[in-house]
Parts: sequence; structure tokens; C-alpha cells
Amino acid sequence: MLDPRAKPILLSPPHMSGAEQRYVEDAFRTNWIAPLGPNVDGFEREMSEYLGLGQHSARMHCCATSSGTAAIHLGLMLLGVRPGDAVLCSSFTFVASANPIRQLGAEPIFVDSDEASWNLSPAALRDAIATLDAEGRRPRALVAVDLYGQGCDYGSIEAICDEWDIPILEDAAESLGASVHGRRCGTFGKVAAFSFNGNKIITTSGGGMLVSSDAALVERARFLATQARETAPHYEHNVAGFNYRMSNLCAGVGRGQLLALADRVARRRAIFAQYEAAFATRAGVRFMPEPVWGRSTRWLTAMTIDPARAATTRDELLAALAAERIESRPTWKPMHLQPLFAGCRMFAHERGRKPVCERLFEQGICLPSGSSMDDADLTRVVGAIERAFAPSRAAVA
Ligand SMILES: *Cc1c(COP(=O)(O)O)cnc(C)c1O
Repeated sequence: MLDPRAKPILLSPPHMSGAEQRYVEDAFRTNWIAPLGPNVDGFEREMSEYLGLGQHSARMHCCATSSGTAAIHLGLMLLGVRPGDAVLCSSFTFVASANPIRQLGAEPIFVDSDEASWNLSPAALRDAIATLDAEGRRPRALVAVDLYGQGCDYGSIEAICDEWDIPILEDAAESLGASVHGRRCGTFGKVAAFSFNGNKIITTSGGGMLVSSDAALVERARFLATQARETAPHYEHNVAGFNYRMSNLCAGVGRGQLLALADRVARRRAIFAQYEAAFATRAGVRFMPEPVWGRSTRWLTAMTIDPARAATTRDELLAALAAERIESRPTWKPMHLQPLFAGCRMFAHERGRKPVCERLFEQGICLPSGSSMDDADLTRVVGAIERAFAPSRAAVA
């Protein structure tokens, strides 16, 4: 059935704008083939300008890093996370949100999603904080994750965290270009982390950015990320640092990518809209909702398939697409279900009920969403999904 020459359609491949090469060539011409350099400074400045365009009065300071994970690790250190601390974290996320908590010797405590945003549930967050408080513990920080291009309900989450004086680290790895209440993702919390991995909405081939309105905190991040070298003519060290800075070549790619961000968001939203128009009315199908208070980039189009009502299942659809060389993926497997985090505590959206994010994982699928997909690619994916839902197929099965 499958044309063996059919080209593979990937979930979210890199999409160059054409402007990247100019910056990379500048780096070659000036021999800035090193970590740090003018492209890194430029990329940080341009990200800071971009983040300042939203409805947010504070100026954002940026430190480009070798990965988003490195930015999360540094961010948690700067929030004072130490061995034995409790750190709250969204359960429904990629493992890189939670690994640095463990690597700092702290205890991750996972928090469920809500149905309205698929992101951190304010009800579960309140329950977690109150329960820990009754035990005489105060979480050192919260890692709030903006999933699939959509920000969290920061109106509620900031109010809760302010009440208890718990600093927020916004994991904005997936939400560059999104906003909540008109404010850009990456400007919430005490510190935020972006990722420019190859599959993200814009890429540097690999990299990240630590962001904060607190200039001193970002200064400290820069220090720690460059081996914590003290000012002295020789190499002098008082604390253990990291080699976590971005290379000048990668930053050049990032500068060219950032110029295209608005187009990338528009295209990903248009792709989502097409999938939604094609399948939203099918029995048992639900797309990731976009709450009224937020604007998502639709970095990845995600939907759930209820096996009790739909003509197919999530796993059948994954297999049907793979057979047509179309890459799709289950939604993130929640952290509290990972063997890595066995025994960690988890607070559900509703006490005594199955966590919302468990269903989102069991039924959830991410569809090809790359901004470089053309209309013919999209038609091919839609056709493949239609066939997976076809009654003849259900009758055979
Ligand atoms: C991609 C991602 C990260 C990690 O970023 P890297 O740049 O790959 O280290 C962290 N959190 C989330 C939610 C991500 O999607």
C-alpha cells in the first residue's frame, strides 16, 4: 500500500529561515569559533528584546546555555535548591524538567495537570503545598512546565506561590512564542528556561537560555556556567561551576531563527487548525484545549483518542501512521509513572481520583507539526488518519 519512495514526515524537524548562514559566516570570518562571542551576546540581546515586547514591564536578562536542561539545572541552583529540599514539578512533562532536581540531591514532588490546559493543576498544587505544610515542610521551588507550546495558568499559580513564598522556575522549553494574559512565556516566575533543541519551535541545533528579570541572578548564572572563574589573572575558583555556555556558532543559528519566530508560530497554529477542522467532530477525539487566558504556539498538535468511543485507539493510530512513514508520538509519559521516579509523591487534580495526566498519556498522541510541512504533507497525514478511523478498518479489527 505504501509507496516505498514516500518521503518520511517527521514530528517536528528543524526549519531554517535562510538568515542563519549570515551569522554563522560572520563567526567564521572573524574566527569566533568558540564558546561565547558576538553572536552569543547578540542572541541574548535579541531574546531580551523579544521578551520585552509582551505586556511585561520588567526587562528580561538572558544567559545562553548549551542546553535547556543546563538552564534548568542552573536555575534551580540559583533558587537555592539543596540536598534534601522538596521541589514541586509538573508530572506531565519531558524528563529534563525533573532530572536536575534529583541531580541537586533534592526530592521531586509531582503535581497533576488539569483538563483545561493539560498543564499544572492549581488545585493539585494547592493540595501539595498544604499537605507538605502540615508536615512542617515548605517546597524550595516549583518547576512549572508549559507543554506543547502552551503556558500554564499563571494567574492562579503565581497567586498560590506568592501566598507561600515559593519561587517558580518556568520550564518554557516548549513555549517560546506563547503568552498567558498577554504576557510572553518565559517571563513568569523568578527564572525561566528555554530550549533550542532540534525539535523545538526554533533551534540552535542544541542550546538553551536562562532568563530572569533579576540581573544579579543572571550574572551569577553566567559565572557558574563558565567554570565559576573568579576575577584574577590566574585561574582562581571558590565554588564548583559548569561548562554550560552556548557556542558562538550555535548562537548564530539562533539569531537567524529568531527572525522567523512569528512565522513559525503562525504556521504551527495553522497546522493545528487543519487537524482540528478534519477530526474534532469525530467521536472520542479531543484536541488539547486552548484556555481563554492563553495563546498557544501549537508547537505540537496533541489530541486524545478515547478507546471506548472512537473508531480507533491511540496505539493503532501510531502504528497506522508509522506504516505510512509518518512520525507521531505518544504524549509525555508522566514522571510519577517513570521507573526512574518510583516512590516519588504525586498530587492528583482531584484527591482519590486517577490523575488527569495518566489519561492524557494513555490516550494522547502528538501529530506531525513541523512548520516546514507543506500542504501536500499535511494532506497526506490527514488522509492517513482518516484511513485509521475508517469504519471498514474498525470492522476488520
Ligand atoms: C526539550 C525540553 C527540555 C530540555 O531541553 P534541552 O535543550 O533538550 O536540554 C526541558 N523541558 C522540556 C519540557 C522540554 O520539552
